Amino acid sequence: MGIPKACLFDLDGLLLDTEPLHARAWNEAASHFGCPLDAQRLMGLRGRRRLDCAAQVRDWIAESTGQDLASDDLLAIRQPIAERLLTNALPMRGAMELVQRCSELGIPMALATSSSCAAVAMKIAPHPWLNAIRIRVHGDDPELKRGKPEPDVFLLAAERLGLEAGLCWAFEDSPAGATAALRAGCRVYVVPPPHLEAVERQQLFPGVERFLNSLEDVQF
Ligand SMILES: [Mg+2]
Repeated sequence: MGIPKACLFDLDGLLLDTEPLHARAWNEAASHFGCPLDAQRLMGLRGRRRLDCAAQVRDWIAESTGQDLASDDLLAIRQPIAERLLTNALPMRGAMELVQRCSELGIPMALATSSSCAAVAMKIAPHPWLNAIRIRVHGDDPELKRGKPEPDVFLLAAERLGLEAGLCWAFEDSPAGATAALRAGCRVYVVPPPHLEAVERQQLFPGVERFLNSLEDVQF
């Protein structure tokens, strides 16, 4: 596997087990407007910024029910559900150990997340081990133009570490995030959602060559 020059970490579903909670919050909010979301749609929301997800869900609600909602109407329902659920997220398997190992070896780290600064603060409050990752790019970062699957989050994270993105290893769990990291030119490791067949995995993550069962598989 070698030793990376730097590691760029996604947060949701990669370091913290928040994705089932995010999915539940979107599904409950969409269901409130009469449009429950199936597993495929929920997978499509993974890894993307809240406002990008809200625009997508609003379109699905309009298509299936004819309601013309504003994103704010949807977010007003979702936000309290999400806040209640997300403060209880646990670390993903191997995440704490990997961050600690990078610290010990002096490998620079950055967080490359679609979550807003406020949402990250809320989610990581119970997880002081995440404070070891001091360089961060948030979904609402003033310098960030486009969210995942565009490459900007990873390019900006690498820039803040003073490195070319091509020298960085990126760790992701979502199709949108993996696409973003590949487009940025990173070496991409994906920990896919559990219980995917190999064929489904390749369909969801085109171009990805390196899959891990969990972050415990990272050896350096
Ligand atoms: Mg993710």
